[in-house]
Amino acid sequence: MLNLSEIFYSLQGESTFAGLPCLFVRLAGCNLNCAYCDTGYARSVDGGEEVSVAEIIDRVSAYKVSLVEITGGEPLLQKETAQLVKELLKLNFTVLIETNGSLSIAGFDPCVFFIIDVKTPGSKVSAGFNFANLELLQAHHQLKFVMVDEADFFWSLDFIAEHKSEIGRLETIFSPVTKSFAPERLAELMLAHRVSARLQLQLHTLLWPECVRGR
Ligand code: SF4
Repeated sequence: MLNLSEIFYSLQGESTFAGLPCLFVRLAGCNLNCAYCDTGYARSVDGGEEVSVAEIIDRVSAYKVSLVEITGGEPLLQKETAQLVKELLKLNFTVLIETNGSLSIAGFDPCVFFIIDVKTPGSKVSAGFNFANLELLQAHHQLKFVMVDEADFFWSLDFIAEHKSEIGRLETIFSPVTKSFAPERLAELMLAHRVSARLQLQLHTLLWPECVRGR
C-alpha cells in the first residue's frame, strides 16, 4: 500500500518537461521541513489515504495521459514507490520522480527520469543531501537547485564545481524562490558568471500564486 495525498492533472513546472500536461501522483509524508515548502498538506501522512498500487494504476489510467510524475512529500520514503514505477513503465507511461535528494535513488528502473533537489542553505535543510546518489546519476537525470537568495546561488556554483566529475553534463536547473530572490537578478548572475544551468521559474507559482491544491 502507498500513502497517497492526491492525484491531479496539471502542467509540469520544474524540469526540462516544464510546460507539458502531466498527471501528478502526490504521495504523503516527508522527512524534511524546507523553509519555503508550499505543500505543507503533504508533509504529514495524516492527510493521506492508504491506496494499493493497482488502485493508483487504475486511477492514473483513467486520465488517458502519457506523462506521470510521482512527487510528494517525499516519494522515496515509501517502499512501494518502486513497484508503482515498474507498473507505470510496463504500461508505457513516461515516469518522472521528483525527490528532495535526501534518500537513495538506487533500485529504480533506469528508464525513470529523476529530478533531484540539491537543497541549498536557504532551505534550512541542506545537510540532508544523499551524496551516494551522485554515483548513481544517469545522463537523463536532472539536478534542481531552488535558491532563496544570492548566497544560495554562489553556494550552488561551488557545489557544482566540487562535484564536476559526477554531475558532468547533466541538466542542472536554477530556480529562484521569487518572494525573496528576483528572477531577473538570478538571470543577471547566471549570465555574468557564464553558468550553463537552465534558469527556471516555478511555473505553478506564476500561474497559481495562491498555492491552489491540485495545481
Ligand atoms: S522536501 Fe518538498 S515536501 Fe518536503 S518539506 Fe521540502 S518542499 Fe516540502
